[in-house]
Amino acid sequence: MEAKLGTKCVQAGYRPGDCEPRQIPIYQSTTFKFDTSEHMGRLFDLDEPGYFYTRLQNPTNDIVASKIAELEGGSAGMLTSSGQAANFFAIFNLANAGDHVVASNSIYGGTFNLFDHTMRKMGIDFTFVRPDCTADELKAAIQPNTKCIFGETVANPALSVLDIELFASVAHEAGLPLIVDNTFPTPILCRPIEWGADIVTHSTTKYMDGHGATVGGAVIDSGKFDWGKYPDRFSGLCTPDESYHGIVYYEKFGIENAFITKCVAQLMRDFGSIQSPQHAYYINLGLESLHLRMPRHAHNGLELAQYLQNHEKVAWVQHPSLPGDKFYNLAQKYLPNGSCGVISFGIKGGRQAAETFMSKLKLAAIETHVADARSCVLHPANATHRQMSDEQLKEAGIGADLVRFSCGIEDLEDIIADCDQALSFV
Ligand SMILES: *Cc1c(COP(=O)(O)O)cnc(C)c1O
Repeated sequence: MEAKLGTKCVQAGYRPGDCEPRQIPIYQSTTFKFDTSEHMGRLFDLDEPGYFYTRLQNPTNDIVASKIAELEGGSAGMLTSSGQAANFFAIFNLANAGDHVVASNSIYGGTFNLFDHTMRKMGIDFTFVRPDCTADELKAAIQPNTKCIFGETVANPALSVLDIELFASVAHEAGLPLIVDNTFPTPILCRPIEWGADIVTHSTTKYMDGHGATVGGAVIDSGKFDWGKYPDRFSGLCTPDESYHGIVYYEKFGIENAFITKCVAQLMRDFGSIQSPQHAYYINLGLESLHLRMPRHAHNGLELAQYLQNHEKVAWVQHPSLPGDKFYNLAQKYLPNGSCGVISFGIKGGRQAAETFMSKLKLAAIETHVADARSCVLHPANATHRQMSDEQLKEAGIGADLVRFSCGIEDLEDIIADCDQALSFV
């Protein structure tokens, strides 16, 4: 019988044997010992699973990656040093120089920079579409050299919701996999694979860690996309890898393991963006309570949004689970149990009012972080986007008055009281 989500959060990925440690062991070792070099050679040839060097694989990391894979309903997973590395690996495992990717235009700013600047310099082209575009608009963005489609379940910080089922069906019709960054909802509130996503990525830095302790990322494969149906398009998976004596990942590791094995064997080997085993251990501590924390974050977020919506000093509030929100219907479909604890809103009086409000908060701290156990707040016009004029901000869809508030798991009454007293100074 398959365990339920909460049980997986606590126990998946690790089954200790008799007299073995109950908590996951931290394999704090760069390297592993062999009796014969012939045995080590079999590992180097990928003929046998096992560990020889932590840059490629480490048992602690694998325990945590397989827990996240089980939570998402995937077949295989890997940890990376950051969410940035996870999204880069997921795409670069499929697209080379001369290839093209279709991505939602409503994605995390760091991911947008990675795609629109750094990966373009590597020769990979991107077309951006709205997360709620029509099937025809999405089809029109696909080119003969397109290798995948990318979006975020709930975008940080735009709080738009991706129409996963529509994106997946258009992608599959075109013979392409859909990659979804599921950082904000986590598998507790949405499992994109159930809606047709093929690869799921995470910044575990956010809710999965949940305590602001560790930067990290994860890539999870659904094991459902059949690369072998399009051997020319996915030649990296379906033709011999000369750096591994000509093995063909799809043939040797099958539909369920080819993608992650290639990602580890080539990209982790060459780029070295590994998670440290100590950090993987911290992420696992966060995962053990993810199913308890997420409903609280989402509840606090929606309740605060509703409170602010009725406040005379507040001009507007945005949260996908708030009735009347532009993305409310998509949120009801994909996130019926809540979306996340992050909301954005504007205070009457614009930029100055936002600054006054933030400076008077006592419980919520000013940080660039989101999705933490502690409430935190950011004024993009004065921080992450401070180089932009009010006009430029407006064009980017970020008002000078926009305040991003990330509800922690404190008592709701205290979060509301903190906002209330801070608003009284505006
Ligand atoms: C933060 C974030 C990232 C980047 O993750 P890091 O761990 O900071 O590298 C990617 N995607 C989303 C949705 C994020 O919120």
